Amino acid sequence: MTKRLYLSLGTNLGNKRENLTRAIELLSLALGKCIAVSQFIETAPWGFDSENSFLNCVAAFETSLAPMQLLDMTESIERGLGRTQKSNNGHYRDRIIDIDILLYGDNIIESERLTIPHPLMHKRDFVLEPLAEIAPETQHPVLHKSIKQLMEENKEQTLCK
Ligand code: ADP
Ligand code: MG
Repeated sequence: MTKRLYLSLGTNLGNKRENLTRAIELLSLALGKCIAVSQFIETAPWGFDSENSFLNCVAAFETSLAPMQLLDMTESIERGLGRTQKSNNGHYRDRIIDIDILLYGDNIIESERLTIPHPLMHKRDFVLEPLAEIAPETQHPVLHKSIKQLMEENKEQTLCK
């Protein structure tokens, strides 16, 4: 049985376009068939200051791996591409690649190492916009709203701030 998996990818160091492309290649070898990739979008750093802007995208895969195996794989691909440091308690830094697990079918997972749906996905425009491009009607299994709806709500909230 395969599951539909959505990943968010980001990079703000080196050749960003190449980092995303290489990561998607490695992910499709390790996880399963890649069935959609959003456009690559340039975004400002989120949650920290840096002079290096980000390139972000979202990719969908069909996978038969279990959630923890996915996290092991995405972390090993991050290291393989040269990422050395993890974020610490919400303290972000520049990174050559970040791969976050957004959705895994409609599963809800809360463990020490892994929370799915990703706990910040509905607050991040750099996730919602590319995700809405490839999966607008997909439902968030906790918030019970479509990605398109979450994107519109998040835009409104940002405008009212
Ligand atoms: P960030 O993505 O917030 O910049 P990291 O990539 O360094 O930070 O990840 C920090 C930790 O988040 C990882 O050690 C991982 O165990 C944890 N984590 C929890 N849920 C998820 C998820 N859905 N996808 C990716 N990492 C997750
Ligand atoms: Mg991450």
